[in-house]
Amino acid sequence: MRKRSSGVDRRKLLAGSLSLIALSGVSTVIAKRGSLLPPPKGNRVVVLGGGYGGVTAAKYVKKEVPEADVILIEKNQLFVSCPLSNHYLVGLIDYGQLCFPYNRLHTKYGVKVVNDVVADIDLPKRRVYLSRGYIDYDYLILSPGIEYDYDSAPYFKEANWYYPGAFRPGSEHLYLRRLLEEFEGENIVFTVPKMPYRCPPAPYERAALVLSYIKENGLKAHMYFIDANEYPPVLRDGFMKAYEDFYRGMATYITGATIKDVDLGTRKIKTDKGEVRFDFGSLIPPMRAPKLLEDIGLIYGREKWVRVNPMTFETKVRNVFVIGDSCESYLPKSGYAANSQAKVVARIVASRIRGKEYGGELIQHGVCYAMVNLKSAIMLEVEYKYNIKTKEITKVLREDNTWKVSTAKRYYEWARGLWRDMFF
Ligand SMILES: Cc1cc2nc3c(=O)[nH]c(=O)nc-3n(C[C@H](O)[C@H](O)[C@H](O)COP(=O)(O)OP(=O)(O)OC[C@H]3O[C@@H](n4cnc5c(N)ncnc54)[C@H](O)[C@@H]3O)c2cc1C
Repeated sequence: MRKRSSGVDRRKLLAGSLSLIALSGVSTVIAKRGSLLPPPKGNRVVVLGGGYGGVTAAKYVKKEVPEADVILIEKNQLFVSCPLSNHYLVGLIDYGQLCFPYNRLHTKYGVKVVNDVVADIDLPKRRVYLSRGYIDYDYLILSPGIEYDYDSAPYFKEANWYYPGAFRPGSEHLYLRRLLEEFEGENIVFTVPKMPYRCPPAPYERAALVLSYIKENGLKAHMYFIDANEYPPVLRDGFMKAYEDFYRGMATYITGATIKDVDLGTRKIKTDKGEVRFDFGSLIPPMRAPKLLEDIGLIYGREKWVRVNPMTFETKVRNVFVIGDSCESYLPKSGYAANSQAKVVARIVASRIRGKEYGGELIQHGVCYAMVNLKSAIMLEVEYKYNIKTKEITKVLREDNTWKVSTAKRYYEWARGLWRDMFF
C-alpha cells in the first residue's frame, strides 16, 4: 500500500474534488463537511457503486445481518444495465427494460441509498468522503466498475464524443442507438481493446448484431472490425463460424491490430496494419479500474486493476473488499461474476460481524451469453469453488459454441433472473 502522510491526502482530495466540480458543480469545501449520517448503533457496511456488484453486496449483507447499517453510495439515480444493451442497440428491447430504480433496496431491505459521488476514501481512518460530507464505516465493499483508460490511448478521448464506446452504463447506449438509426450506409468501424476489458464477448456480439441489423434493413454498408486481440478471447469458434456463415463479404476483420491514431477530420483510424476510413462507429477504448482506487493506494505502480485475494476479494487492508470489474479475478469481467463475488463477500462480512471467520465453501460463477444474429445465441459458463478448510480450488468451464434460438431465450431469462436477484 502506498504511504500517506496523515488522514486525508490534500492533493488527492483536491484532485477528487475537482472531478466532482466537473460532475456536479459542487465546491471542494463541501467534501470536507461533517458526518453525513449519525453514528450507527451497530456495525456499518458501506458499499460504493450501485451496479451489478454493489447492489448485490448491499442487499445480501442486509439480508444476512439485518441489524447492520448498510449504506449504498451511487452517483446515478437509476441503475442501467450494460448486459442486454446490445439488444437495445438493434431494437430487440426497449431502453426502459434496462433500467431499475434503487428505492426497493430501501423499502424492502432497509439499505440506505445515498445518491452522491465518492471523491476520496481515507482507509486508515475508515472514512468515505462525498460531496455533502463524510461517512465512517466498519466494512467497505468497493464495486465502482471501470473507467476508460484515455491515458494509454489519448486519441480515443475526443473520438468518443462522436463515436461512443458504449461500455459504461447509461446514455452512451442511447447515443449509439440514435447514430445507428440515422446511419444510411457506407463504412462502419468497431474497435476492440486488448484484454482484459469488461465483458469479453460483448464487442463480438455487438458486431454480429449490427451486421444482422444491416442485413435485415438492406443497408449498403461494410464493417471494419479492428481487434487488438488475435481472436475473440472467449467463444471463438462460435463467433468465427457465425461471421463466416452469416456475414461473409459484409465485414473485414483486422486482428492483432494496434491503433496509433484517430483522425476525426478525415474520419480515419490509423493502425499498424493500415488505415480505415469510416462514416459511423463504436470505438471501445482500453479500460482500467477507476483512478479513485489508485488515489487511495489500492493499485500499485503501473497496474490497472486492484489486486485482491482471488477467492475472498479482500484487499491488503483488512475489511476492505473490491469486487466486480475493478478487481483482478479468475472470472472474466462480467455482471454475473460481480453478482457472485458480491455474495461471497456478503457471507464473509456477515460472519465477521457475528464475530466468526467464514469457514464454508466459497463459490464464484461466471455466465456469458452472446447473440450471433437477431435470433440465436451462444454461451459459456465458468465456476470456481474454493474450500477454505482444504484450500482446494476446483474449476469447471463449459462453452456452447453452437448457436440456438433456445439459448437466446435463456439469455433473456438469465438477465431477468439476475435483475430479480438484485432488486426484488
Ligand atoms: C455491451 C455490454 C454487454 C454486457 N453483457 C454482459 C452479459 O451479457 N453478461 C454479463 O454478466 N455481463 C455483461 N456485461 C458486463 C457487465 O456490465 C459488467 O461486468 C458489470 O456491470 C460489472 O459490475 P460492477 O459492479 O463491477 O460495475 P458497474 O455495474 O459498472 O457498477 C459500477 C457503479 O459504480 C458507480 N460509481 C463509480 N464510481 C463512483 C463514485 N466515485 N461515486 C459514486 N458512484 C460511483 C457507477 O455509477 C456504477 O453505477 C456487459 C457489458 C457491456 C458493456
